[in-house]
Amino acid sequence: MNFELTPEQRDAQIKFRQFVDRYVAPNAAEYDRNQTTPIELVKIMADEGYLGALVPSTYLTKQDDISNQAANQTQEMDPLTWGILCEEIGKASGSLVSLLTVHSMVIQTLIKWGTKEQRDKWLPLLATGKVIGGFGLTEAKVGSDAKNAQTTAIKDGDNYILNGQKRWISFGQVANLFLILAQVDGKATAFLVEREQDGFSTEPITGMLGFRSAMLATLNMENCQIPASNMVGKIGFGFSHVAGTALDQGRYCIAWGCVGIAQGSLEASLSYSTQRKQFGVSLKEHQLIQELVADMITQTQAARMLCYNAAFLRQSKDPSVIMETSMAKYFASRTALKVASDAVQIHGANGCSDSYPVERHFRDAKIMEIIEGSNQMQQIIISRYGYQKYLSNQPK
Ligand SMILES: Cc1cc2nc3c(=O)[nH]c(=O)nc-3n(C[C@H](O)[C@H](O)[C@H](O)COP(=O)(O)OP(=O)(O)OC[C@H]3O[C@@H](n4cnc5c(N)ncnc54)[C@H](O)[C@@H]3O)c2cc1C
Repeated sequence: MNFELTPEQRDAQIKFRQFVDRYVAPNAAEYDRNQTTPIELVKIMADEGYLGALVPSTYLTKQDDISNQAANQTQEMDPLTWGILCEEIGKASGSLVSLLTVHSMVIQTLIKWGTKEQRDKWLPLLATGKVIGGFGLTEAKVGSDAKNAQTTAIKDGDNYILNGQKRWISFGQVANLFLILAQVDGKATAFLVEREQDGFSTEPITGMLGFRSAMLATLNMENCQIPASNMVGKIGFGFSHVAGTALDQGRYCIAWGCVGIAQGSLEASLSYSTQRKQFGVSLKEHQLIQELVADMITQTQAARMLCYNAAFLRQSKDPSVIMETSMAKYFASRTALKVASDAVQIHGANGCSDSYPVERHFRDAKIMEIIEGSNQMQQIIISRYGYQKYLSNQPK
């Protein structure tokens, strides 16, 4: 395995850093305070090609009306470059990582499970940010046990009628195409639901601990009629196949975003402990601070290595990638929380104030342990995998 970035990946990393330094880092605290992400920023991300980065370029030539910058910028990114993008954005804003996450979950799912008509219709629009994707799995009463979602879809001629509610949906306030899990005769099934569909409405959710600018919403479906052709995959495939693909993509983005949170927290701490003096010397001269910093550096790098491993396996389409991605998400989210917590410690009272970024990183890192399958869910599947892998005769 080669850990060297190619010249193209290096150039991309520099470009991502410039983007983040210009558009994200200076405003992330304000967006967090205001609990919003300006649509102009989403548009800039689209124009940079970030929203369409995973869409095969063949889908961009199919729409006559694509003439904007995004179409020119968009080239299918390799998994490592995509990961680096999520890391760089995560350094400044966990909330914005979640935009890339949910949007790309819809894209990846359509690429793998969508019909030709669905792919031809939606991928060009998702690629250019004309349509923003959202992912609707969780409900008020059903979270980790998501395959038992209570939203129903009942066949009615050429349509399905959806009834139910989805909760905690990232960018649900602005997304216009949702991948929704519903039960068809008790079988979990995925559908595309458009914001404009009759019977569909959203309510903003505010007052979250973290991801405060991720524009969360509750999605309501009351006799929401959608064409039967909006089904993604087959009846009964909704959780095992369709959501499985989406969640794997989500975990990959989140794992890298967590590396970003950890790296952002680390860099802020290096800078602060150099400038801040106590007992006549800068904080960095105190050995107990050095211990914290040494652990922050090592843990962040270890999390990054698990993400590199997941990127490598993704690139080579290795079947172990799903489990290795779960491990990366599990470890990286724990790391982000620990490193961000130590960063607050190093900053003292300043670390508890929103004048410094580390308190926001700390709050966002906690969310990372809960979303895309909570860390307890990761522990369950990773331990099962371990029993299978290490107690069998497979090569280790
Ligand atoms: C900021 C934010 C953004 C989100 N965005 C989205 C989104 O875009 N789309 C979407 O569909 N959902 C989204 N979610 C919801 C998220 O996916 C769920 O919160 C998550 O799956 C956990 O479900 P829950 O909150 O209902 O917790 P529960 O499932 O009720 O679990 C509560 C606790 O019990 C633990 N637990 C549950 N079952 C077990 C078990 N068998 N063994 C051990 N421990 C267990 C869990 O790990 C957790 O710690 C978001 C949540 C947040 C906070």
